[in-house]
Amino acid sequence: MGLGVKLTFLGSGASAPTKERMPSCLALNFDGQNFLFDCAEGCQRQMLVAGVSQLKIQHVFITHLHADHVLGLPGFIATNSMHLRDYPLYVHGPRGLRERLSALIETGLMRVNYEVIVKEAHEGTILEGKNYSVSAVKLRHDVPCYGYVFQEKGKAAEFQRAWAEKLGIPEGPLWRKLSEGETVEVEGKKFKPEQVLDYSKGRKGKKVCYITDTEPWEPYFEAIREADVLCHEATFLDALKGRARETKHSTAREAGLVAEHVKAKALYLIHLSARHKETQQLENEARMEFANAFAAKDLDEVEL
Ligand SMILES: [Zn+2]
Ligand SMILES: [Zn+2]
Repeated sequence: MGLGVKLTFLGSGASAPTKERMPSCLALNFDGQNFLFDCAEGCQRQMLVAGVSQLKIQHVFITHLHADHVLGLPGFIATNSMHLRDYPLYVHGPRGLRERLSALIETGLMRVNYEVIVKEAHEGTILEGKNYSVSAVKLRHDVPCYGYVFQEKGKAAEFQRAWAEKLGIPEGPLWRKLSEGETVEVEGKKFKPEQVLDYSKGRKGKKVCYITDTEPWEPYFEAIREADVLCHEATFLDALKGRARETKHSTAREAGLVAEHVKAKALYLIHLSARHKETQQLENEARMEFANAFAAKDLDEVEL
């Protein structure tokens, strides 16, 4: 069994808050930590409503430096300071984030009593935990922009106690060695890992991708292949494809095409433009290409 990944869509809109939607922002809960993808204006209140603890956030991943993705940062940093946070906050994002963030903090006349560490993102793995990793992938927008891939580490096989006992291998360090793939020796007899490991019970870790803002672009497809949940921007309906190209965004139908192409298991449309009041239409368009598609709503939760 995995530890369980829970997603909370704190914001699902584009550009500016509307009555129904806050701008794009996703919280991911895993193994006692919350990870935040983008930090939109209003995300603090959304977190309170959704029960996402700010103090459990150690890493924030910013896609790009457009206002709708970063304006929540100063407030978020200030509130953590007020709560006497005494451990660092890591903010990952494209080049230029450090300067912009210090300017935002200064503008807010804030005193920050803990460390805010800005990490410039690059393609590939940018964070490695005991049982997960986060990698960044370049997107195609009108400013430098990264998508992020959260990958839970899986298990190639499951150790079978009963098999080991039957073979007479004593419990302890030898079991550990075998489960790590080493051959061991007991009273002159050799035992191979496959004698105690059941590969049919191996488990792939869960994969969640956060892809916004971008137009569909081949170079990021490989990184998001077979995502359990693909959150992909779908700013416009297909009728506004021209506008999507001009502004370097995707349409709902294109998001569906990407999900189908990379064999995602589920697609959540995010970064929905305020002009599309009827999100059913966006969902329908995506479903023309990929059946398991949903237009995300603010505060929607997904457990996987
Ligand atoms: Zn945006
Ligand atoms: Zn943007």
